[in-house]
This record gives sequence, structure tokens and C-alpha cells, in this order.
Amino acid sequence: MAELNAVAVTGGKGGAGKSTIAVNLAALLSDIGYRVLLVDADVDNPNDYIYLGMERREAGRIVIRTPAIDQSLCDGCLECVRICPTHALLGKKGNVPLFFEDSCLGCSLCAEICPRKAIKEGKKEIGTLYDGESGKIKMISAAIRPGEARSPLIAHNLVRFFRQIDKNQFDKIIIDTCPGVANPVMQALRLADHALIVTEPTPLGRHDMEAILKSPHLLA
Ligand code: SF4
Ligand code: SF4
Repeated sequence: MAELNAVAVTGGKGGAGKSTIAVNLAALLSDIGYRVLLVDADVDNPNDYIYLGMERREAGRIVIRTPAIDQSLCDGCLECVRICPTHALLGKKGNVPLFFEDSCLGCSLCAEICPRKAIKEGKKEIGTLYDGESGKIKMISAAIRPGEARSPLIAHNLVRFFRQIDKNQFDKIIIDTCPGVANPVMQALRLADHALIVTEPTPLGRHDMEAILKSPHLLA
């Protein structure tokens, strides 16, 4: 469900000025007396805090469970392969499945279903949550760990962080999304009840703007 007074600043194209506009909008609203929550949802490279000259604080680590198959216990039944929702496990009957970590959501379904208890779970840190304040602006963000590929999981954790915040403290919410039209952008758009689309007057800018306009969250 959309949050009251939440405006997403988005746009398919990177480098069009989206973060500049989001941060300046937050600063302008703050200057005229509003209490602003700025959500830096550019999970691959959140840098709004630099624009604001803000010291960001670490607010939590994003950790997922990752499976490890004990080959001495596995009989290659492939129950784990069958249940894995992201095809992070693949294999042939009778063989120990191969594990493709970048596709793993850390859902634990494979460990739960394994009839031979051959799957142990470890933990892996894939990102960090941050917060900070500058005048009447509070900022929250989440940053993916360099080399990680699971941006949607980072975005999911940022959404959970956002939902824990008491919105009564704020008059306006500005959400600075990632560029593109992939899952992290859609997760950020779901938090907003308005969207401001930033683009540039070039064929690429028009192409990427048209792509974001097809988002089901903007069409709804
Ligand atoms: S469910 Fe367990 S025993 Fe079966 S293939 Fe997977 S790890 Fe091996
Ligand atoms: S934890 Fe979930 S996503 Fe990861 S390999 Fe197991 S079933 Fe697949």
C-alpha cells in the first residue's frame, strides 16, 4: 500500500539528474519547514548523503543464509533442486547438485526439505543499512556489498527498514530510486503515491523514460 505524501524521484536513465533533484527537493522542503524522510533507494550506489554533506551511520548489516551441501550425506535425490524457487541449485539425479550462489535468496527451503539433512546453512553479509540526519532531513539507505549481485534482496531489506520507521515524525517522504526498470526500482515505486520522472532531451533519455512509464506501479 502506498505511503501518504511519498514521492518517488525516478527515471529509467542513469545520470539524468535524478539524485540531484531528489536531494534538492528534500533540501527545499526542509528549508521551508517540512520534516523530510529521504529514502536513498539506489541500492547499488547510494550517495545522497554525500550531496547533503551528511555523516551516515551504519544501522544494520544485511545477512542471508546460504546453503552448503555435505557431499558425504547427499544421495542426489534432487528434492532441493525441485523446491528451489530461483534455480540456484541444479543437478542430475544421483549427483550432488551444483550451487549458484548469486541466484540464492537465502530462503532455507532446500535445507528444510532435504531428507538426508545434507544441507547446512552458513551466513553471508551482502549489504549494509545506513541512516543519518541533516537539519530537518532524515536519510535512510541500503548499500550492496561490492561484487554482490543480489540487489533485489538489498532493496527488500531497505523496504523493511522503511516500514519500521514512524512516519508521524515526517511531513514529506522523498524516495530516490535506482536508474533502470529492474526489481529494486519497482520495490521503491511501491512505497510511493506519486512519481516524478527525470529524464534528458536525448533519444536515450526518451527511450528509458518510456520504459519506466510502462511500470505497472506507475500505470496503477
Ligand atoms: S535434497 Fe539433500 S540429499 Fe537430495 S540432492 Fe539435495 S542435498 Fe542431496
Ligand atoms: S536457500 Fe532458497 S534460494 Fe537458496 S538455494 Fe536454497 S532453496 Fe534455493
